Amino acid sequence: MLPALQKLQKFIRLEAERGYDNRAVLGGLDKILPVWQQEAREDGVPEDFIQDVIHCLEGYASYSVPERAECLQTLLIKINNLTASETTATASPQVQPAGISSPSQTQREKSKSSSRSRSRGYTLPADTLPAHGLKAPLTVLPGIGPRYAQTLRQLGLETLEDLLYYFPRRYDDYSRLKPINRLRYGEEVTVIGTVQSVNNRDTRGGRLNLTEVIVSDGTAALRVNWFNQPWLAKSITPGMQIVLSGKVDMYLGRLVMNSPEWEPLEQEHLHTNRIVPVYSLTAKVTQKMLRRIMYQTVSFWAPRIQDYLPEWVRQAGELMPLPRALLNIHFPESHEDLKAAQDRLAFDELFLLQLGVLQQKRAWQANTATIFEVPDSWLESLIFNLPFELTSAQRRVLAEIRDDLRSGRPMNRLLQGDVGSGKTIVAALAIALVTYHGAQAAFMAPTSILAEQHYRNLSRLLSNPENPLLAPDAIRLLVGDTSENEKEAIRAGLADGSVKLVIGTHALIEDPVVFADLELVIIDEQHRFGVEQRAALRLKGNNPHLLVMTATPIPRSLALTIYGDLDLSVMDEMPRGRQPVETHLLSPLERERAYALIRAEIKKGHQAFIIYPLIEKGQNNNNDEAKAAVEEYERLQREIFPDLRLGLLHGRLPPAEKDRIMRAFRNGEFHILVSTSVVEVGVDIPNATVMLIEGANRFGLAQLHQFRGRVGRGQAQSYCLLIPETNDDIENERLLAMVETNDGFLLAERDLQQRGPGEFLGTRQAGYSELRMANLANVHLIEKARHLAQSLFEQDPDLSLPEHQPLRLNFERFWQGGRGDIS
Ligand code: ADP
Ligand code: MG
Repeated sequence: MLPALQKLQKFIRLEAERGYDNRAVLGGLDKILPVWQQEAREDGVPEDFIQDVIHCLEGYASYSVPERAECLQTLLIKINNLTASETTATASPQVQPAGISSPSQTQREKSKSSSRSRSRGYTLPADTLPAHGLKAPLTVLPGIGPRYAQTLRQLGLETLEDLLYYFPRRYDDYSRLKPINRLRYGEEVTVIGTVQSVNNRDTRGGRLNLTEVIVSDGTAALRVNWFNQPWLAKSITPGMQIVLSGKVDMYLGRLVMNSPEWEPLEQEHLHTNRIVPVYSLTAKVTQKMLRRIMYQTVSFWAPRIQDYLPEWVRQAGELMPLPRALLNIHFPESHEDLKAAQDRLAFDELFLLQLGVLQQKRAWQANTATIFEVPDSWLESLIFNLPFELTSAQRRVLAEIRDDLRSGRPMNRLLQGDVGSGKTIVAALAIALVTYHGAQAAFMAPTSILAEQHYRNLSRLLSNPENPLLAPDAIRLLVGDTSENEKEAIRAGLADGSVKLVIGTHALIEDPVVFADLELVIIDEQHRFGVEQRAALRLKGNNPHLLVMTATPIPRSLALTIYGDLDLSVMDEMPRGRQPVETHLLSPLERERAYALIRAEIKKGHQAFIIYPLIEKGQNNNNDEAKAAVEEYERLQREIFPDLRLGLLHGRLPPAEKDRIMRAFRNGEFHILVSTSVVEVGVDIPNATVMLIEGANRFGLAQLHQFRGRVGRGQAQSYCLLIPETNDDIENERLLAMVETNDGFLLAERDLQQRGPGEFLGTRQAGYSELRMANLANVHLIEKARHLAQSLFEQDPDLSLPEHQPLRLNFERFWQGGRGDIS
């Protein structure tokens, strides 16, 4: 290598090791320029490269760390390219890829691949910082030309780094060899034997070409077939030792293997005789080709990857070092190593996610907010005058909110409370704390029927005639079909500050309302809103306090991960005197009993829900057993309850129509509401006492629990009846959890284990597209990542310490793209 390039490379490596702090050279990197330029020209370094260096180093001091890294890494790649052309000419010593197989195999692989790279002029740039070479396009690999690179691009593979992080879809375990006489039908095995005969012929009138090979290993002989691969007859020859991996099949009473993976025995056993990665493919890319490319890349690069996690994190988390994890995720040496590799890579995702969440929380807390303090006596008398006594959970949460409101920092709190735990009253008290000082509050709910319900409840609580905290017309309802006149009046009142509380749907953010002094934003059933919608409402004030509420209990571990930027309040207690809903699991044959109970309840003046999983039969082909709300509604009306009034609600109705039907049901116009899952959200119909769920096995426990929460809201005993489609025991066992407990958190915890986190994520996806390895049901790993992220964050919240620069680069890459908004 030319001395000037070598020198530059040395400085760059030093600078990279220091975390790009511009101190590798005294006084800054640009200080080398005058002398270096001259030397470079003397060495005959191409002028355009010299200009690149000048360009990068002159601005260097003013760049951010990632920019510095990028510009220096680009220079390294170029040095490499310059050196590579030099190398092919002079045939300098080659780098040898590190194998991961047994020593003898490794030896073979080494010699083979170095001779191959020499002949193709491929030099692996090992004497420079590895990180940059990973940005090289796939065409640097032997055997990959521009056309094939284009094909691989369809898999999202463009650089060597992409390959490294293209994880297998699954693994085939060929690690157990078997003698042929011990093979059993149906098992996946690896066999080693000698080829006895090879026979290639066309069959079925020339439509099928069959290559039939007989292999023997001394214990027995095995017939192996390949179809339409006539060229195999040329590669597989009698006398050759061969390794076969695949499934043992049966043909005419004899064991055979059809189209197994194979390779000559003397080859390194990349495709066989181990746990083999299986990648997602695209047309023109075979498993074998991709594995070959992967192996070249991974075996060379993985050991050269810098582990960006600080050593103490790795130690404390008992994590496999990154280089080994990358090796083992592709080419596991054992099941234990594979598991450790998966854990390590999943940990990294959770850890980076958590660091981001912590940063968001801190950014939020850096804002100041108006302080709202009220006298204890005032608050106590307010509570005393409520129609009921607060539960201790309600009191606790109120105290937490009160502390937030007087902290001078914007509240950013998630209130989780099971259906019926009484969140609305807590929200009402929070509003009172703010309007006490004359400020304004906004309350957003997902549907207009729910908004109306809140409007009535909040009006009753905040402006009751005996103790009016607010004038009746200081509380307003703004929904889609509010008249234009009324909207105009509300807008005026909000702008001049005379309206103190506005309750509404997303009309609140769509409408051009302007607030005089919005200080508190409350969002009910927050998972029904997108990040943007929550942010839009918040932006109507100046750092207002924010309270989001949800009745979907989220297991704590998950809540802390997804909502780690929010403070968490949990209401885990029901108001006293509430009768638990009686839940029964019925077999499909007992449907008549369910109908009888519904009749009996309706006779007492109550109402019932009947829920079906799908809208129409045949909507989903494999599911035609599923009861269809539309058809069942007609059948029930015609055959079962001809004398009763039935309503029908489903997701294809326009929102206004849905509201109309819910309202009619609440007003007692129907005895029975037949519905799909759209009925889920927090509507209060105290007169409804039966919830019958058909096809119950199709719903998650958390969702079933939500349905159940629609009843049991009044004084009367209520019932929840679950009818699965079949008597399948396992399903029923899962559903039995509903019978056993009314605790939403417990059910959510089980749901997470059984069905994964999808139902809890809702619209909060920022950062989640990056989770490729992490399983959000792995509570143990989540806790570990959270704990260690917290410790690191306490030391170096901005990741500005030099030793955290590699981590910081990875952190920024992880979060780029995700907007990561709060709430
Ligand atoms: P959710 O938490 O599901 O939104 P709500 O706020 O709608 O529950 O409350 C459910 C019902 O319980 C309402 O009718 C409400 O008036 C009543 N409630 C709330 N708190 C109490 C309490 N401490 N004691 C008795 N009833 C209560
Ligand atoms: Mg509610």
